[in-house]
Amino acid sequence: MIVILKPNTPTDQIEEVVQEVAKLGYRPHPIYGELQTVIAAIGDERTHHTLESLSVFPQVERVLPVQKRYKLVSRESKSEETVVDVDGVKIGGENFVVMAGPCSVESEEQLMSTAKAVKALGAKILRGGAYKPRTSPYEFQGLGREGLRILATAKQETGLKIITEVLSERDVEHVSESSDVLQVGARNAQNFQLLIECAKSRKPILLKRGMSERIEEWLLAAEYILANGNPSVLLCERGIRTFETYTRNTLDLAAVAIAKMETHLPVIVDPSQGCGRADLVPVLSRGAVAVGVDGLLIEVHPFPAEALSDGQQQVDFNVFSRLMSELQPFLNATNRKLV
Ligand code: PEP
Ligand code: MN
Repeated sequence: MIVILKPNTPTDQIEEVVQEVAKLGYRPHPIYGELQTVIAAIGDERTHHTLESLSVFPQVERVLPVQKRYKLVSRESKSEETVVDVDGVKIGGENFVVMAGPCSVESEEQLMSTAKAVKALGAKILRGGAYKPRTSPYEFQGLGREGLRILATAKQETGLKIITEVLSERDVEHVSESSDVLQVGARNAQNFQLLIECAKSRKPILLKRGMSERIEEWLLAAEYILANGNPSVLLCERGIRTFETYTRNTLDLAAVAIAKMETHLPVIVDPSQGCGRADLVPVLSRGAVAVGVDGLLIEVHPFPAEALSDGQQQVDFNVFSRLMSELQPFLNATNRKLV
């Protein structure tokens, strides 16, 4: 940390801050300027007391952190890319994975037909919400345990791995029994107790970015999972809330590029929640691959017009088929192989 003092701070007041820096566990190193004194506080900021509270001293102008607040997720802590192993399906490095399926599991027939279609077109992981976080309590909330049973059946019949959302700490244990990846949704992106509980399950976790979450906060949420002993995290950008009305959310591809620079974790894009429009899903999928993502999470429904949730953003089998074939040149350009 760097503590900048106000111009012309008298010596006794400089000394007061120096003492306080030492008391808080840092080695103070004052640099006396002509007008202003700066105190370099040497020590690990992530494990020591923060010095930001020193700005309550009237002679302190500003306190600046030097280190990033996350550690385990950062590239500095691990030079090679993390490859997350989802029961044999590898994500990360040069391995690119498509996860596809309906927003919600609605019936056995709906899920099975989608599972077979997306598998034939190259998806390796089947998505489908059994527990749905809906804005209104009157909207379809998901089939719950019955939805999990249908997902398990689809896995058995197709061999696809399963990703489904876990909405609360209460559900972690039984959702883990039928799911290969636990999805933590945008609305729970900073539910730290849920993140800790998911971490303990030892399942790979797909962590969505919250609707108004800064990149630093998103990475710190991932840090919670790693700090609780689970290294298998997939970061997922799914759009943030902005002033724009032509799209449901604004898909932030810059955040994807930054997450790739800052961390060693695989990054996934969900273009479906990312824009909320089926017509934009193919082009945003290509854009995401061009930026360097390690996988896509795409909503696919046999009849989007009849979907019980997010119908407007789900693509049908034909659009998904075209989307998959159009990805190839972009995968080649970014040295990714569809697993
Ligand atoms: C979803 O994937 O259907 C979903 C609810 O996602 P998010 O948490 O990103 O809104
Ligand atoms: Mn959805």
